[in-house]
Amino acid sequence: MDSTSSSPPVDPADSRAFQRWLKKAALLTGLGATPEERQRNHEEQKRLACEKWKTELMNYSPSVVFMLKHLKLSGCPVPSSNIVCAPCDLTRSGGFHPAGAIVLCQGHFGDKKHMEDTLTHELIHMYDHCKFKVDWHNLRHHACSEIRANSLSGDCRYMRELGRGYVSFTKQHQACVRRRAILSVRANPKCPDEAAAERAVNEVWESCFNDTRPFDEIY
Ligand SMILES: [Zn+2]
Repeated sequence: MDSTSSSPPVDPADSRAFQRWLKKAALLTGLGATPEERQRNHEEQKRLACEKWKTELMNYSPSVVFMLKHLKLSGCPVPSSNIVCAPCDLTRSGGFHPAGAIVLCQGHFGDKKHMEDTLTHELIHMYDHCKFKVDWHNLRHHACSEIRANSLSGDCRYMRELGRGYVSFTKQHQACVRRRAILSVRANPKCPDEAAAERAVNEVWESCFNDTRPFDEIY
């Protein structure tokens, strides 16, 4: 290896800058860095990409902007810093914490639309938590918010229908909402089994599926 022909364009006296440059170059090429350093750098790249999409969605996504507006009107404004990009296990794309924070699972989103659906979904949970007295340990409460979040976000392609100027409550849409709501309630630590999750979703289905707040005004 000829080290002179590939010298970096830095003042050799500034050895710290040189070291930083060397480190950066090593990380980008994957040479000379430890696996831990490469992994850390990889996660940081994913976090930055997630933050970029997050900022764009918070400013330009109709459904995200709409939910943020209604959360603010309801007395629960969501600052950008409460929506956190973080690494998660691969089974999930996002999460909501009743303390008022949303997690977006960095690296999980193949496209911005998927992140938009997930962020809208979590913001609907946040809206429910803000407006209604939701007890997340109560399976029926949880089921209700999951039905709404899955139906009103793009998870089951509801927003796309709205964009076309009509709302079609197809059987497929309902089946999708039901399936996803049952999965989420099943994951509640207070849920003993699949049957209990199904029961909770069925019991609140009518009233919660038809409760489209705050989207009512679109009609
Ligand atoms: Zn959910």
